[in-house]
Amino acid sequence: MRKLIAGNWKMNGTAADLGELRTLAQQHPDPSVDIVICGPATLLSRMAETGLMIGGEDCHPAASGAHTGDISAPMLADAGASHVITGHSERRSDHGEDDALIAAKTQAAWAADLHVILCIGESEAQYRAGKTLDVLRRQLDHSVPDGATAATTTIAYEPIWAIGTGLTPTPQEIADVHSALRAHLTARFGEDGAQMRLLYGGSVKASNAADIFALDHVDGALVGGASLKAADFSPIITAL
Ligand code: 13P
Repeated sequence: MRKLIAGNWKMNGTAADLGELRTLAQQHPDPSVDIVICGPATLLSRMAETGLMIGGEDCHPAASGAHTGDISAPMLADAGASHVITGHSERRSDHGEDDALIAAKTQAAWAADLHVILCIGESEAQYRAGKTLDVLRRQLDHSVPDGATAATTTIAYEPIWAIGTGLTPTPQEIADVHSALRAHLTARFGEDGAQMRLLYGGSVKASNAADIFALDHVDGALVGGASLKAADFSPIITAL
C-alpha cells in the first residue's frame, strides 16, 4: 500500500485558494506517495480540476433524501472526490457524532466507492488519565465496520489535544500507539489489518514531519492548518 499524505482544509477555502492546489500539483507531478486534499463541498469540483486526488470532509449515511444541508457520499463522488474523512473529532464534538453513526457513514462511503480516512483520538483528559489505548481500541471496535479492508480504509490517529495546538505526543508515544493500533487491527482484520494505512494527525508541520514519518507503523499524515498553503504542505509531502 502506498503511503498517504492527506490535507484537511476544514471550514476554510474559497475560489481564491485554488491557486495553492495548482501550485501543489505542479510541484508534485509524479508523486511516489498518495496525496489527497479534503476540502469543503462547495469547492470540490473545482479542486478536482487540479488533477490532485480530492476528498470530502464528511458524508451523510444515506445516499439521498430529505436531509437539508447534508451531503451524501454519491454526491461527493459525483463532484470528483475519491476519498472522504469520517469520524473527525470536530464532527464528533460539534455535531455529537457517535461511533455508530460514523460506522454508518463509513459504509455509505464504501458503497459510493470512496476510500475512507476514519479518524480516532483521545481527549486531553483521557490522555492524562492514561486511557489513550482503551479509548482508541473502543473507537476502532465501534466505528470501523466489519469488512474494512486496506484498499477501502485508512485509519488516522489524531489526539484531540494535538489538533491545532502546536502540541504533539512524543515520537515514542506515537510509535507505541501506532503499534498497538496495528496489533488491534491485525487481530480483527488479519492481513488487511496488517496492511491498513495508519496516519498520524495533530500539529504536523515541516519541522516535525520527518521525525514522525520515521516511526514504525506511521504510513503518512492527516494535516490541517499546514495543508492550506502549498509552501507549508509541500515540504511535508517531500518528508514522507
Ligand atoms: P492541525 O494539523 O491543524 O493540527 O489539524 C489536524 C487535523 O485535525 C487534521 O484532520
